[in-house]
Amino acid sequence: MFVEHIADLAIYAVDARATVLSWNLGAEHCTGFAPDEMIGQPMSRLYTVTDLASNLPARELEQAMSAGRYECEGSRVRRDGSQFWAKVIITALREGDDTLAGFGIVLQDLTAQREMERQEYEHALQLAARDAARLEAEKRARDLAELVDQISAQAAELDRRRVEADAANRAKTDFLAAMSHELLTPLNAIGGYASLLAMGLRGPLTEEQRSDVDRIRGSQLQLLGLINDLLNFSRIESGRVPFSLDDVVLSDVVRDVAERMALQVSARRLIEERVDCPDAVVARADRRRVEQILLNLLSNAVKYTAPGGRLTWSCSATGERARLTIRDTGRGIPADRLADIFEPFVQVGRGFARPDEGAGLGLAISRDLARAMGGDLMVESEPNVGSAFTLDLPRAR
Ligand code: ADP
Repeated sequence: MFVEHIADLAIYAVDARATVLSWNLGAEHCTGFAPDEMIGQPMSRLYTVTDLASNLPARELEQAMSAGRYECEGSRVRRDGSQFWAKVIITALREGDDTLAGFGIVLQDLTAQREMERQEYEHALQLAARDAARLEAEKRARDLAELVDQISAQAAELDRRRVEADAANRAKTDFLAAMSHELLTPLNAIGGYASLLAMGLRGPLTEEQRSDVDRIRGSQLQLLGLINDLLNFSRIESGRVPFSLDDVVLSDVVRDVAERMALQVSARRLIEERVDCPDAVVARADRRRVEQILLNLLSNAVKYTAPGGRLTWSCSATGERARLTIRDTGRGIPADRLADIFEPFVQVGRGFARPDEGAGLGLAISRDLARAMGGDLMVESEPNVGSAFTLDLPRAR
């Protein structure tokens, strides 16, 4: 009676030939078979086709018979054909004289338990994944913080160096200005006295003396030019150059500058031409500074173009900008030096050994002037083909 009414464990007995002898309430719940459907039937109804094929029912009973008791887990089949996973305990039942009477079998449906285990396992997996993600995120945050620290340290270092460089640059500019100024006085004296001699005010000069005095005068003028460059440069660098902006017709300036350089141009048998330079191209700029820039570009073009070469001016206006280009067929500038030539004291292809070519300040001054007027100075060049320098300025309204 007691066994009969246990509802959550399937308990049944089979005889030695595996025919079901009793079937409790739990067995009915668990399998869906009613007692009258099972009692008298072979217990093999509860096994899967695969287990039957491997003769599992008989093997289980044999094990129980030889050991007295057999425990395992396995699949069983319900009345509706569905399967469930069960814990199985089979006990051999013997008579008083030890002959085998049959087997007592207890089945526990583990489906719910397995499902719970599966859920617990999945939950644990999720927790682990979340943990891993959190750790990864924390590590990334730490890495990022480190990176930010490094970058700010570098930025601070850069800032410090910039301040140092600015100070050094200012010191250099001040020094250049002071030195140039100091040099001007004796240089003017040299020029003055050389002129006195040249004019014969100290008595007549021999032919040789005259040519010496001319050389003194020439060198003095050249030094004067260099020093003026230096002064100019230091003034621009320290922002001490005043600009007076006006509407400037670029072709006018080109004409003036070309006239002033006509002698040097023809001395080198260069062909100079103006193409496409309409009077309508008007820039907003300081005319004297534009002149200074063009003069510098033109004298460079003359200096660095072999006799017989060609110099071409052109102007254009687009949108807010007015542009002027001078193109030469000279020696050109290697691509890797193009950016450098606008730096002060940079000269491509020679040292300071030939002072007749200037100090390497012309382009630095010119670009500083252009930028101070809201413009820029650009270059395109190809070695042995030529160079084109373009002055870009704001366009007059
Ligand atoms: P400088 O002419 O006094 O040497 P610049 O600043 O005017 O100094 O020019 C810097 C350098 O750029 C020159 O020494 C020269 O090597 C190069 N350069 C400038 N203009 C030209 C040009 N039109 N063709 C070839 N090289 C040029």
